[in-house]
Amino acid sequence: MVERQLRRRGIFDERVLAAMEEIPRELFVPEAGRPYAYDDAPVSIGNGQTISQPYMTALMAQSLELQGGEKVLEVGAGSGYHAAVLAALGARVVAVELIPELAEQARLNLEAAGRAAGVRVISGDGSLGFPEEAPYDGISVAAGAPDIPPALVEQLRDSGRLVIPVGARDEQELQVITKRGGKLSTRVAAACRFVPLRGGMGWR
Ligand code: SAH
Repeated sequence: MVERQLRRRGIFDERVLAAMEEIPRELFVPEAGRPYAYDDAPVSIGNGQTISQPYMTALMAQSLELQGGEKVLEVGAGSGYHAAVLAALGARVVAVELIPELAEQARLNLEAAGRAAGVRVISGDGSLGFPEEAPYDGISVAAGAPDIPPALVEQLRDSGRLVIPVGARDEQELQVITKRGGKLSTRVAAACRFVPLRGGMGWR
């Protein structure tokens, strides 16, 4: 997975590559999905949701440009895999998941992978961020948003980065937004297809 799907496709951050080599991805998919855990595709995790394609997880993590020691908000914890990767990069992670069953499963998965200490899983609507732990050095959104939720920009620290798929319900662009002196600059990292963001600032 790391060689063929990530390095060959242009993921260059050695820390991200090492983190994804280290975290056992099979611990984050349900039993039925285990044979597909390292496939070049999203895998079903139940409740109509998926664990993202490895390449997307890597690209999002790389785009945050973490050095270690940052506080990162993840919206859409899903299986907990991406949160585990961010924790392995030295971040303290707050991971919000809208579907309570998935939030509980993410906690169990993180525990099984020995990453529970670095991640706080919250059951709730991450389209509103999580003000209690703000500001964040980085925010990563794992579901496609119709627009950029204002609360996420507000809760981003100055010079922090927000990585978010924005666009139509079935097709988005992965935007990397940097906040500097209150101003936002945006670059597009890739075309992508994420499950829809729901909740207050998501799709109905
Ligand atoms: N990062 C995850 C990918 C999960 S897919 C992983 O590594 O497995 C996206 C997740 O976003 C789904 O679990 C979905 O339930 C969740 N989601 C959608 N809208 C949300 C919202 N408003 N707040 C929190 N989670 C949300």
